[in-house]
Amino acid sequence: MKDIKINIALIAHDGKKPEMVSFVLNNQEFLANANLYATGTTGSKIEKEGLKVNKLLSGPVGGDAQIASMAATGELDLIIFFRDPLDKHPHEPDVQMLMRLCDVYNIPLATNPKAAYYLIRGIIAVFEHKK
Ligand code: PGA
Repeated sequence: MKDIKINIALIAHDGKKPEMVSFVLNNQEFLANANLYATGTTGSKIEKEGLKVNKLLSGPVGGDAQIASMAATGELDLIIFFRDPLDKHPHEPDVQMLMRLCDVYNIPLATNPKAAYYLIRGIIAVFEHKK
C-alpha cells in the first residue's frame, strides 16, 4: 500500500466525532499513507491525533459541498462520512448532494464505522493482491 496514495475524505457529524477519532486511531497506519481531506472541525480532531489532513470548510458552511465537488471531479477514491441519524442538520441538502454524487460517480462511501472498517480492509486486500 505504501507506494499507492489514495485520496480519502473524512467527515463526522458532531455526535459522531468521538467515533471518528477512534476510527482514525484504529486505522492510523493505513490513513497515514493516504492523502486525507476533511471538513474543518473533523479535520482539526484528526490533526490532534497526529495525522496530516487537508482541512476544508466546516460542514455546515460549505465543507460537505466542497467534498461533493471533489467527488464529482474525480479527486476522491473513498469517502468516510459518519452521519448522525439522530440529529437534525441545517446542511442536510449538502449531505444529500454528497451522497448522491457518490452514487453518480461510483465512489465508495462508508456512513458508519463498521462499513468503514470493512471497506478499508477490502481496499487493502485488493491492493495486496495486485502486487
Ligand atoms: P465539521 O463538519 O467537520 O466541520 O464539523 C461536518 C459536518 O457537519 O458535515
